[in-house]
Amino acid sequence: MIYDRNNIFARILRGELPCKKVYEDEFALAFHDINPLAPVHVLVIPKGDYVSNVDFAASAPDAMVVGFWRAVGATARELELDPLGYRIVANHGPNGGQIVFHFHVHIFGGRQMSHRMGNMPRPNES
Ligand code: AMP
Repeated sequence: MIYDRNNIFARILRGELPCKKVYEDEFALAFHDINPLAPVHVLVIPKGDYVSNVDFAASAPDAMVVGFWRAVGATARELELDPLGYRIVANHGPNGGQIVFHFHVHIFGGRQMSHRMGNMPRPNES
C-alpha cells in the first residue's frame, strides 16, 4: 500500500489537526486516542511515512527503529504505567483491524487487561 500523506496521523504530525500530546521527541509523537478503549489509551507514531509495521520494520533507518521503540517506553514511563504494567498493540492491515494507515502502537493501561488478546474489542462491543 502506498503511504497517503493526508491520513489523519500525518495531519496531526504536521500540526494541521490537534492532539492531546503525551510525549514527543525527534523520532515519535505520542497522544491520547480519541476513542479510548481503556482508562489510559495512547498512540505512539513515528515521525516518518510508514504505512504499518511491515514497511516500518523493513524501511526505517536503524536509528528510527531504535528511537521509536525508546519513545514507546518513554511514553509509558511518562504515563506512570510501568509499575502496574500495560499492553502494547499494533494493528496491520484488514485482518489486524487497522483503520489509520500510518504505523502506530497502542498503549493500553489503567486496568487489568483481558486475556482475549487476539480479539481486542472495537468501541461499543463487549
Ligand atoms: P487502528 O485500528 O490501529 O488503525 O486504530 C486507529 C486508532 O486511531 C483508533 O483507536 C482511533 O480511535 C484513533 N484515532 C482516530 N482518529 C484520531 C484522532 N484524530 N486523534 C486520536 N486518535 C484517533
